[in-house]
Amino acid sequence: MKIGIVGLGLIGGSLAWDLQHLNYQVIGVSRKESTCDLAVEMGIVSAAGTNLAILKGVDLVFVCTPLGAIASTTLELIPHLQENTIVTDAGSAKGAIVTAITPHWRNFVGGHPMAGKEESGLKFAQVNLFRDNPYVLTPTEATPVESVALVARIVEALGAKLYQCTPEVHDRAVSWISHLPAMVSASLIATCLKEPNPDIQQLARQIASSGFKDTSRVGGGNPELRRMMAEYNREELLRSLYQFQETLGEFISLIEAENWDALHQQLVMTQQARPDFLNHNSLSDL
Ligand code: NAP
Repeated sequence: MKIGIVGLGLIGGSLAWDLQHLNYQVIGVSRKESTCDLAVEMGIVSAAGTNLAILKGVDLVFVCTPLGAIASTTLELIPHLQENTIVTDAGSAKGAIVTAITPHWRNFVGGHPMAGKEESGLKFAQVNLFRDNPYVLTPTEATPVESVALVARIVEALGAKLYQCTPEVHDRAVSWISHLPAMVSASLIATCLKEPNPDIQQLARQIASSGFKDTSRVGGGNPELRRMMAEYNREELLRSLYQFQETLGEFISLIEAENWDALHQQLVMTQQARPDFLNHNSLSDL
């Protein structure tokens, strides 16, 4: 089977690497000639170029461009595809993308690999990035079942844990555990920068350790990716941010009232709940 990958960055490059190892013939398309050359040099694609026309004749295409380019790139790709080619994507938000593409290409299966790291670009691509991590497919009622089944088989061959739900359910769930944490983590860093005393500000930076490292990691990641999460999942992100604001307000009230027992109860509850979010996954996320 011939597989095309559009957008040879962290996700596209990592996918190309694994798919090549699984003996698929992988053809890459990226915006920059230099990225295409690097992908060929790395041996993760058998050919690469900047023109979507080189994907003529492939059976399956993964569109792994930044979120804002997924729908437009797929629409540009369509005239080059044979009728039964399946297209899937890697975008971190699904509703807007599935709605934009499905009327033009019924063989589109929305996808979201829940794996990544702070860095972006092809040089950070890695083997087995998806192994043991969740990978969500978001077909609609109109998506052909055999197309979903084929993408699902490939996802499982990558060693990922397959989940399936509607684009709407995906966007709400992902807001709680990915898009909300990214904004909370970014606002944590922004808040620390508000310390007005430069000596204290400097000392805080010098003594920051594992707690700050853990809680600031996703807020310190790729700004374009974070911005697009907000743009493309605005409604669900706002819903979860308002809920977070309310919950934070409750914590503030308990501390103001010196209600240490109630605060303790909340912290016992959060300590008990956390493993349920993590035990079934490896610890990398988006
Ligand atoms: P990335 O490292 O920035 O890679 C995207 C690549 O796409 C860039 O390297 C760029 O390559 C290429 N590109 C940009 N515009 C293009 C266009 N119009 N046509 C063709 N190629 C284009 O980003 P990423 O982290 O891999 O993210 C890719 C997608 O995966 C996004 O939609 C994101 O939502 C999703 N995702 C990301 C993560 C994560 O943690 N990073 C996790 C899950 C899903 P050039 O060098 O050629 O410009």
